[in-house]
Amino acid sequence: MNYSNNIMKITETFSSIQGEGPEIGANVFFIRLSGCNVRCEYCDTEYALEGGEEVSIETLAQKIRAAGAPVVLTGGEPLIQKDEIMKLIGMLPEIDFEIQTNGTLEIFDAENVRWAIDIKTPSTGIDFEIGNLDKLTKKDWINIVVVTTDDLRWAFKYIGESIPEHLLVYITPAWGKMDSRVIWDALVEKGDVRTKMGIQMHKYIWGEERRR
Ligand code: SF4
Repeated sequence: MNYSNNIMKITETFSSIQGEGPEIGANVFFIRLSGCNVRCEYCDTEYALEGGEEVSIETLAQKIRAAGAPVVLTGGEPLIQKDEIMKLIGMLPEIDFEIQTNGTLEIFDAENVRWAIDIKTPSTGIDFEIGNLDKLTKKDWINIVVVTTDDLRWAFKYIGESIPEHLLVYITPAWGKMDSRVIWDALVEKGDVRTKMGIQMHKYIWGEERRR
């Protein structure tokens, strides 16, 4: 997706709780970018896959400064607007960003960015950009969403064989499709101490309400 250098396609902006990952529970400012390069069967943000409002990067920077909180760029898939994101982040070196990406596109280096990167299970038919693993650091986190017990078995195998020890990994149940107790029991049974169970805290508080 190519927009003018100074315009981004945005579905919504809002302040809410960081519902996932190592900063869970923090007050953050979300920017939900529009469009995605894949289609997951369990997608919970289908309203962001098409359309969106054209907003200038300068306007977004003003909103971020006014929010006075760390920023989460989510989607959709933010990296289909990679050039514009890099410009926005470069304008705000004093702001901490987390970028939540589906893992299929190449990430980039930036001091003020923490990556939250998905690795899709084989049942989705979506390939991970394997080169991204070498670019992740201790401050980043990996998320594997599981829908079935086959996904869960694959996740443990993949973590053990392919994910470097220093990286933080969460296994998250697909909302409404996988029982989180099954994941927890499997984690305990395996004695896997470096993998954590992901919980989408905002969904436990507000269900599927938007802008939460
Ligand atoms: S990658 Fe994310 S936004 Fe895109 S279809 Fe899958 S769940 Fe939805």
